[in-house]
Amino acid sequence: MMPFVDLKLQHKKIESELKEAINRVFEESNFIFGKDIELLEEEFVKYIGVNFGVACSSGTSALHLALLACGIKAGDEVITTPHTFIATVEAISHVGAVPVFVDIEDTTYNIDPALIEKAISKKTRAIIVVHLYGQCANMELILNIARKYDIRVIEDCAQSHGALYKGRKAGSVGDVGCFSFFPGKNLGAMGDAGIVVTNDKDMSVHMKALRNHGRKDKYEHFIVGYNYRISSFQAAILRIKLKYLDENNKLRQAAANQYNNLLKNSGFILPVVGEENSHVFHLYVIRTQLRNQLVKMLQKNGISVGIHYPIPIHLQIAYKFLGYNKGAFPVAEKIANEIISLPMFPGMTLDNIIDIVEMVKKSSRELKASTSQLEEMA
Ligand SMILES: *Cc1c(COP(=O)(O)O)cnc(C)c1O
Repeated sequence: MMPFVDLKLQHKKIESELKEAINRVFEESNFIFGKDIELLEEEFVKYIGVNFGVACSSGTSALHLALLACGIKAGDEVITTPHTFIATVEAISHVGAVPVFVDIEDTTYNIDPALIEKAISKKTRAIIVVHLYGQCANMELILNIARKYDIRVIEDCAQSHGALYKGRKAGSVGDVGCFSFFPGKNLGAMGDAGIVVTNDKDMSVHMKALRNHGRKDKYEHFIVGYNYRISSFQAAILRIKLKYLDENNKLRQAAANQYNNLLKNSGFILPVVGEENSHVFHLYVIRTQLRNQLVKMLQKNGISVGIHYPIPIHLQIAYKFLGYNKGAFPVAEKIANEIISLPMFPGMTLDNIIDIVEMVKKSSRELKASTSQLEEMA
């Protein structure tokens, strides 16, 4: 069985370091505000190239904190795409704001900057830009629009730890960057965790208070906050894994290159990387019209694949109330039926990739043959 992601393999290489860190936190027994949390914040913001970091309980809480710190509230509108993980949109709902969707580019699957201005109204206060699959959206065009209309730019970097846009790290380009450390992300904890980063000191102070019940000190609370704290165990684990992030991203890029070479001219639409981008391949996503049948065949033959994501958010039952219909976002809807994520993780071998690609090609040849047979019979 070819796994989709192999965390055991990733952790095996650094097992003794990880266990040492876990033992240290165990000995210190300062589980909620241990020193690893501040150290993680310091080390991570240095890596990203910004001034302040607020480690928190998940990527979803990171997005919620960012929206709160940007002052987004009930009745405001926040622009994002329907082609993302639902958490991006849930965070908008959590502050009582209205998600306003903009379609994606057919090439990068990120927000299409050419369509943003049409979606801006008097109520628009922010854009959540999702750097999907490991590649940054076109930030220059987005920032120009944001400046023109005086709206905030929040980067959802849950899939793009270490990705570069014009040489700058994802999360350092907009007003605030939100990261998830869900185990399967490019930088993952051993449980839920996240972080928000920014150059704005006031925002970081505000978010630190919101993260911990709006506390001034133990018994004084000056704003209504949340319990969005990170565990000391997760912070200690992430500090170790951060040291290997670049190396692991390079392994992902090498695997993506091998996939590209082996899949070229085979009829699939392959990932398109923008000139100004360094893509960190959280996911390796290709497209085919025979997607549903291909997924079934690959699973049957022991290859775990994914679909990120099969139902655009505007067509989810949870967001029916927004009133969007089928056809509202043609690119997002079209690619949702065609995308397939192949196994991708640091440490996959060339042999793994050759086996996967052979099975992908063989399955798609068989599917094409049987569909053309059906067509002839019809
Ligand atoms: C994973 C993910 C999130 C949510 O992160 P959690 O840590 O699971 O809360 C948000 N946005 C995107 C694009 C993601 O991939």
